[in-house]
Amino acid sequence: MDLCEFSPPYVRAIAPYQPGKPISELAREYALDERAIIKLASNENPLGPSPRAVAAIQRELAELSRYPDGNAFDLKAALSRRHGLPQDAIVVGNGSNDVLEAAAAAFLAPGRASVFSQHAFAVYPLATLARGAKCIVVPARDYGHDLDGMLAAITPDTRMVFIANPNNPTGTFVAGGELEAFLDRAPRDVLVVLDEAYNEYLPPELRYDSVRWLAKHPNLLVTRTFSKVYGLAGLRVGFGLCDPKVADLMNRVRQPFNVNSLALAAAAAALEDKEFVARSCEVNRAGMRQLEQGFAALALRHIRSVGNFVSVEVPRSGGEARAGAVFENLLRQGVIVRPVAGYAMPDHLRVTVGTPEENARFLAALKSALAR
Ligand code: PMP
Repeated sequence: MDLCEFSPPYVRAIAPYQPGKPISELAREYALDERAIIKLASNENPLGPSPRAVAAIQRELAELSRYPDGNAFDLKAALSRRHGLPQDAIVVGNGSNDVLEAAAAAFLAPGRASVFSQHAFAVYPLATLARGAKCIVVPARDYGHDLDGMLAAITPDTRMVFIANPNNPTGTFVAGGELEAFLDRAPRDVLVVLDEAYNEYLPPELRYDSVRWLAKHPNLLVTRTFSKVYGLAGLRVGFGLCDPKVADLMNRVRQPFNVNSLALAAAAAALEDKEFVARSCEVNRAGMRQLEQGFAALALRHIRSVGNFVSVEVPRSGGEARAGAVFENLLRQGVIVRPVAGYAMPDHLRVTVGTPEENARFLAALKSALAR
């Protein structure tokens, strides 16, 4: 008998996560110069990392022989001040991905289920299936979350609901009032995960205070990340805010040293870098406008996004989807974006908002790809 056949069937059934293509890989495959490639495929910050984070890493380097603080005291202290929560209400992770996994490990098992929307972030099915639990996927409405439909889809076995706001890859947004109404109606024995990886990009008029809802809703977990607006995707650090009893369960299943020492130091420093966050949001706002205008000039439709990325529709040709071919052509031109066929969006490509130069280069490459 083959050893691998003893792997639980639900593990063997998992389709691995498809990351954005790394620059080095494209350079190897197409014999391109790495410096001539632009990557707008993983919703990374085009300005690079927060300079304060880089300085903090340099100070931390001499301590690399030591294990990190497994309780992340300094980072949690900074987050505690920022969010007005006690440290035992904070869970840190190797990216917010790790926090999502820890939540799934704490609450899901064979025979249980999670609910999430069609076109939702790919890690929700992965985290669910890895525990042998079932995915209940609720059809989207105009690419966004149908919260009433998601509420109605909750079964007695459902232990988690995932809501990304804004959602990736659609960039769609649910108003704070609707989320609050959802929480008021959701069963108290279901963990509602509000994934706010792109929260900092929201314009002031759309902002809402989800952290305040924790006092009333002990079944709420809010997740955030340092990968996006803080520019630290390569370090892997994110966090969750929740009831201390939920945090305690998640802390039992996470790795003892799940966030490395450079990431801890960088994140604490980046959190205070208000100037960098403001500049990142401004570059994103202007870049989003540039992309939207560019799409309009090419007569392309896009899904209105409030994140740092946008999904654009590639028109079909003779009924045939063309997004895959356009993606390939862009690669040949040294421009990496993200196909989203795996998200049941075979006619879209997702592009991350870059610098003005990157956006212009992408739009020109897109125009050329569409003309073929
Ligand atoms: N949630 C959403 C909605 C995301 O798009 C991402 C990153 N693509 C994550 C969570 C995870 O990001 P990270 O692990 O880098 O914090």
